[in-house]
Amino acid sequence: MAKFVFVTGGVMSGIGKGVIAASIGKIMQVRGLKVTAIKIDPYLNYDAGTMNPYIHGEVFVTEDGGETDMDIGTYERFLDINVPKSHNITTGQVYLSVIEQERRGDFLGKCVQIIPHVTDEIKDRLRRVSRENSTDLAIVEIGGTVGDIESLPYLEAAREFRLEEGGSNVANVHVTLVPVLDVVGEQKTKPTQHSVQELRRIGVQPDIIVARSKAPLKSGPKRKIALFCNVDEAGVFTSTDMETVYQSPLLLDQQGLGGFLLQRLQIEKRNPTWGRWGKIVETHLSTGKQVNIAICGKYAELADCYVSVNEALKDAGAACQAKVNLEWIETDDFEKEPEKVRILSRFDGVLVPGGFGSRGAEGKIRAIEYARTHDIPFLGICYGFQMGVVEYARNIGIKDASSAEVESNSKSPVIDLMPEQTEVLEKGGTMRLGAHEIRIDPATTAFDLYKRRTVKERHRHRYEVNPKYISALTSRGLRFSGKSDSDHRMEILELPLNKFHFATQFHAEFKSRPGAPSPPYFGFVKAAVDSKTPVLESSRLLAQSAGRR
Ligand code: GLN
Repeated sequence: MAKFVFVTGGVMSGIGKGVIAASIGKIMQVRGLKVTAIKIDPYLNYDAGTMNPYIHGEVFVTEDGGETDMDIGTYERFLDINVPKSHNITTGQVYLSVIEQERRGDFLGKCVQIIPHVTDEIKDRLRRVSRENSTDLAIVEIGGTVGDIESLPYLEAAREFRLEEGGSNVANVHVTLVPVLDVVGEQKTKPTQHSVQELRRIGVQPDIIVARSKAPLKSGPKRKIALFCNVDEAGVFTSTDMETVYQSPLLLDQQGLGGFLLQRLQIEKRNPTWGRWGKIVETHLSTGKQVNIAICGKYAELADCYVSVNEALKDAGAACQAKVNLEWIETDDFEKEPEKVRILSRFDGVLVPGGFGSRGAEGKIRAIEYARTHDIPFLGICYGFQMGVVEYARNIGIKDASSAEVESNSKSPVIDLMPEQTEVLEKGGTMRLGAHEIRIDPATTAFDLYKRRTVKERHRHRYEVNPKYISALTSRGLRFSGKSDSDHRMEILELPLNKFHFATQFHAEFKSRPGAPSPPYFGFVKAAVDSKTPVLESSRLLAQSAGRR
């Protein structure tokens, strides 16, 4: 039977609870325990796939095709494991399952209630998930902030869980904020006290408190938190702002979190082996060179919807000893004022990420055209890949080329709905999702990067390259170097004459890990680092397709 660590959040959202949960997992993993992580999201959606990423953050796609909360991505990156979709539990899933049981007659004659039926379902799910792969320790992060109505059943389930499993098998960690008043510089503990009071009122006593604060907690405030929150002083830790989030496990362990938690869970003392992780942190910190990347999208300022893209770029930057500076460029602007696209000449690389709908599409196409004709390294992801195909098609003379997603009655839909999608009416979980095998052609950039003939990458899309246009495109210079589904589906495009003009139908960012960057991202950042030269309009590239006609 696994041991469990519940992680709750207090005071306010957005204080990095996911990173702290993942860090605690890492601290235990480097002590030789088999660790997994579970995220509970108290909203009623069945999964994150139907939520707005611009409000809720990125939809992270798992290997088994789950559309999950972005914290699952944080767990994967910290723990270097593939987390299955069953590890993202939502109220939608819990209630649906309870209601299905009720309809089947499983509770015949009973009044179905939050306690015990909903809380039993929550606990069952936690036990089921932690039994997979002989897990030693499961970190369970409860989303939201203590005091939210939605999270009450989960906190109640956590209380019951400790009662049932025994105190030595379950530990509670509460993550709070300790603000500092600018005028006097005093660390204020009252919000933490209130938040823990609320938690204890529900019956959950924290064993560990991790306070987010600007500077390490001074002894006074630390003692106060311990006393008022009924926690051992040795169980109060600080998480300060850091240069890279990957420092977080090290900084918490330096304060003694690992030893304290082992003792609390009655696990024999083990020494951590931080060697590999320490090196990863070092490479993420020691970045001599600088490289400037433009991410061209819509609502571009909301970085949270592309966390995995950000992290993949950083992983790739670390491998090239370069600090990646990202700037988000709104492609709508290129539509209103086409000249604005010239801003891209300031950058060493242009990335067009995934996206949906028609707004900003023409601007993205313009950005890709500028990158292609000025030989600025370009990486397109999913929608960015599709727009790359549209851009190239127009360039070789298919003037009205478009994507059926952008223009439903396009005369030249070089990107079209996948045939299996035409019958699909429901929106939830119905895209082409998760890992699919891709066959890579030898003697291509893709092969140079992956160094393998077959790879598995994760997908989330409904549209694809229209097979009718493939020969027209390839006969005029575009190379599809990766394909899937018996070579029917185009997965990777590249332009051999450019320094790096590369795009993928899949989202390689979901498999990038610190210390093991995703090959397409690595190729892109490396090309950007190598090409830090003034940008000149290259006639060689403008003629690229024309010459092959
Ligand atoms: N909207 C496109 C599609 O559904 C691309 C999706 C994406 O970028 N994730 O195919």
